[in-house]
Amino acid sequence: MIVEMRKGAVKESVDAVVERAGSFGFDVQLNFGTDKTVIAVLGSNTGQAPTDAFAVLPEVESVTRIMRPYKLAAREFKPENSRVSIGGVEVGGDRVVVMAGPCAVESEEQLMTAAKAVKAAGASVLRGGAFKPRTSPFSFQGLERAGLDLLAKARDELGMPVITEVVDSQAVEMVAASVDVLQVGSRNMQNFSLLTQVGRNHLPVVLKRGYSCTVTEWLTAADYVLAEGNDQVILCERGIRTFEDSTRFSMDISSLPVIKKASHLPILVDPSHAAGHYSLVPALALAAIAAGADGLLIEVHPNPKEALVDGLQSLTPSDFTRLMEELRAIAEAVGRSL
Ligand code: PEP
Ligand code: MN
Repeated sequence: MIVEMRKGAVKESVDAVVERAGSFGFDVQLNFGTDKTVIAVLGSNTGQAPTDAFAVLPEVESVTRIMRPYKLAAREFKPENSRVSIGGVEVGGDRVVVMAGPCAVESEEQLMTAAKAVKAAGASVLRGGAFKPRTSPFSFQGLERAGLDLLAKARDELGMPVITEVVDSQAVEMVAASVDVLQVGSRNMQNFSLLTQVGRNHLPVVLKRGYSCTVTEWLTAADYVLAEGNDQVILCERGIRTFEDSTRFSMDISSLPVIKKASHLPILVDPSHAAGHYSLVPALALAAIAAGADGLLIEVHPNPKEALVDGLQSLTPSDFTRLMEELRAIAEAVGRSL
């Protein structure tokens, strides 16, 4: 249930709603918006409480039942767009934020070369996987702890925030100590204990879409993080599985306007994992910006032919530099900067 207070409602009136929710045994989350306060009343059986129990309270403007399973990620709860700050880089504002780097951290030289190249081309966040959730147990699993140390080193040397994936709920604290953003991968979108743990952490979270999950399931997964008190959630569309096999996954470009309507959360697009081939990445990246993406997550490798993971879909530094110029033009055309 969503309780919307009147503009300028006093604290006592908000407290009265919180108290009434407590009397039913419900939890609440408050959004002190610029315009008005909105209160989400949360519980497994809010459907049994009459809306009038809240509607009669002073300065309550409206009480709405949300029938969809997600509440905190919903625009009804937070009408204004959320902005997430990653070490001073804002995601969800006018500027389109580009995060780029190798799929996996492979060596100091590989990471530093990639990091310097993507920074010079205008990327503002460095990506790199230290723990790789591979479909096969025999594939390269990442440098793990050593990879985290290299990411922390790159961050310190280049003054660039770093994003990496965390695959295990027990490792959240350890990973968080070395990076600026925690990535929850497609294969873990419904790993609820992992979502809860990243929700208890203070770092921003990029939540990738499960490749066989609906938008509703994705936003409900985001609620697991938000419910723990971490409101720094960024979604990332990375393509879904369909019958089409000419690309690695099918880029669901329509999820962008759908999410913008349904949710206040910022959204990135990862064209690399959707495309599966470097030659297709630029078109998908350009389309994403045109369709309203708040940023991009792109794989760039100094020498894709030698990459241990995802070389075929990785851009070279020079391809990436060229793409950044093209992206700038599209960003400007849709009233944004890059
Ligand atoms: C990644 O970004 O490194 C990755 C593994 O992507 P996804 O979870 O989308 O497959
Ligand atoms: Mn990859």
